Amino acid sequence: MLVQNSLSEVLRAREELFTRTIWTDPTSQLQNRVKGSELSRYFLLTESERIGIEQTIRLLVSTTPYYLSLSDPTDPNCPIRRMIVPTAEEAVFSLEESSDPLDEERLSPVRGLTHMYPNRVLLFSNHSCSVYCRHCMRGRKVSSSGERMEKADLETAFDYIRNHHEVEDVVVSGGDPLNLADARLEWILHELNQIPHVRICRLGTRNPVTLPFRITDELCKIIERYNDDNLSIFCHTQFNHPKECTKEAKDAILRLLKVGVSVGNQAVLLKGINDDEEIMLTLHKKLLEMRVRAYYLYDPELIPGSRGFRTPLARGIEIVEYMRGKIGGMGIPHFVNDLPGGGGKITIGANWYLGYYPKTRQHAFRSAVTKKIHFSFEPVGSDKESYYPVLSEADWEKFQAE
Ligand SMILES: *Cc1c(COP(=O)(O)O)cnc(C)c1O
Ligand code: SF4
Repeated sequence: MLVQNSLSEVLRAREELFTRTIWTDPTSQLQNRVKGSELSRYFLLTESERIGIEQTIRLLVSTTPYYLSLSDPTDPNCPIRRMIVPTAEEAVFSLEESSDPLDEERLSPVRGLTHMYPNRVLLFSNHSCSVYCRHCMRGRKVSSSGERMEKADLETAFDYIRNHHEVEDVVVSGGDPLNLADARLEWILHELNQIPHVRICRLGTRNPVTLPFRITDELCKIIERYNDDNLSIFCHTQFNHPKECTKEAKDAILRLLKVGVSVGNQAVLLKGINDDEEIMLTLHKKLLEMRVRAYYLYDPELIPGSRGFRTPLARGIEIVEYMRGKIGGMGIPHFVNDLPGGGGKITIGANWYLGYYPKTRQHAFRSAVTKKIHFSFEPVGSDKESYYPVLSEADWEKFQAE
C-alpha cells in the first residue's frame, strides 16, 4: 500500500534515513536502500508516479540514500527523481518495443556473454545494481532472479574467451560489476589478466554516480593489482545530469585515476532529463573538471515502457552539434545509435561537410564557430575525387556568395 505523506512527514523521513545511514559506508548505503512502494515515504508522489510504482513489474525499484539525497521531494520534473521513480508511462508497452532490441541473446554463444564485434565481447558479470535506473536497457536481465550468473557460468565464459584468440577487449557489464563482492571482482580481473590475448578490460559501472563510496581503497588496490602490462583497465560510467556531478563522485573518480584507470562517460539522452543543449554542455564541462572524458551519448533503446524517455533522433544530433566549438573535443561525446537487431553501434553527427566542387578542387564546410561557409583544397593528383558528394553549380555559387 502506498502511503500519502505530507511534506513535513516526507522531509522528516528523509532526515531520519540520512542520519541512520553511515553515509560513506557502501554497505550501509546498500542496506538502507529505499525500495518499491517505500518511495512514497520520501516523495510527494504524483498520480502518474503512484501508478508507475504500483504497476511496474519489469524492473526492480530501488535507490541508495546517497542518490535519493540528490533528488527533489516535491518537484516531479527533478531529473534525478525521474531516473529513480517510475511513472505510468513505464507500464505502457508499444508494439515497436522489445525486451532485447539489440539481439544480445541471439549473439550470445554462452550464457552471459555477447560476441558481436570480432575483437570484443560483452560479459554480464551479475545482475544487480545500486540504483535501478528507470531507463535501463537491460531490464530483461537486471533484477531478474532467473538470470543470476553463477561462478560456473563465468568459468564457461572465460573458457570461451580463452578459446577465441581474436578477443582483445572485454566489456564487463551487468547489472553493475561493482555490485559484486570484492573477492568475486578480483577473481574476474585475475582470470582476464591471465588470458594473453585479452589486452583491455572495461568496467561498465554506474556506482561512481549512484554510490561513489563503493570506490573504496580496497577495491582500488585490487584493480591496481591487475592493471598492468598484460591488461589495461578502463572504467565507463554513466553521468546523465550535472546534479550528479558531486564532490563525492569526483573523489571516487580521482581514486580510480590514482590506480591508472581512465574514466569515460556514456550518457543516455533522456526526454525531460537532459535533452537540452545547455544541460548537456554543463554536464560535460563538469565531467571534464572531474577528469572524466566524454565517450558516448546514447539514443535510448526501444525497450518496453521506454516511450517516456525517447526523443526524436534529431535531438541527439542537434545537441552534439551545439556543443562543437563550446567545449574542448574531449568533452564532446559521439552520438550513438545501437542498431536494433544486432547491427552494432553507429555514430551520427552534424553535417559540417557540404560537398566537393571538382572544377576548382575545393571542399565546402560549414564552420561551428563562424557559422559561415569555409573552403579547402583537395591535393593535386588525388585519386579520391570520386569519394565526395559533388556540389551542384548552383550550390557552389550560392556558397561563394555567402
Ligand atoms: C557496446 C558494445 C561493445 C563495445 O563497443 P565500443 O564501441 O567498443 O564501446 C561490445 N560488444 C557489444 C555487444 C556492445 O553492445
Ligand atoms: S546501473 Fe546500468 S544496468 Fe543497472 S539499472 Fe542502471 S542502467 Fe541498468
